[in-house]
Amino acid sequence: SIYGDYIKSVIRTVKDWPEPGVNFRDITPVLQNSAAFRKLIDSFVHRYQELDIDAIAAVDARGFIIGAPLAYELGCSFVPVRKKGKLPFRTISETYSLEYGESTVELHSDAFQKGDRILLVDDLIATGGTMLAAARLIERSGGIIVETAAIIDLPELGGGDMIRAEGYSVFAACT
Ligand code: IMP
Repeated sequence: SIYGDYIKSVIRTVKDWPEPGVNFRDITPVLQNSAAFRKLIDSFVHRYQELDIDAIAAVDARGFIIGAPLAYELGCSFVPVRKKGKLPFRTISETYSLEYGESTVELHSDAFQKGDRILLVDDLIATGGTMLAAARLIERSGGIIVETAAIIDLPELGGGDMIRAEGYSVFAACT
């Protein structure tokens, strides 16, 4: 992306967190740095402003941080894709497997109209399982996924390619 190298330089890697052997990508330094945060949001605005997005669907919880300012800038609606048990109204859900165990994401059944053009965002793509589960939820509700977007795709884990193999377009502000 236009500011990819810069944004990457601001993301911090925390070794052995949350457990030994894991290198956790920490985006909080981007949020603390107002210039970096603005460049990050601008890189998404630049890519999507002409694409007639009806709604940003953002994944709980760090996806919300980029999804909300992006929806505001694009003048479209905002739809939260939440972890199980957080949404109060009627929901549909998708369960997917993690390295250890499984997880469930939910969407309100009236979150958008059938045929709406949806941009799906999260902070990070690791295995791609979360993004794919969210994408399935949106398609089950009749949404058209214009693209799936993240701040960072960890290419060594193959998540971006896994999402592409399912027929979705993938964009990352940096890799
Ligand atoms: P995936 O489903 O394996 O692609 O994992 C992506 C999800 O896990 C996203 O919702 C991320 O917020 C979270 N995640 C996994 N690894 C990291 C990391 O290193 N930093 C921040 N979030 C992560």
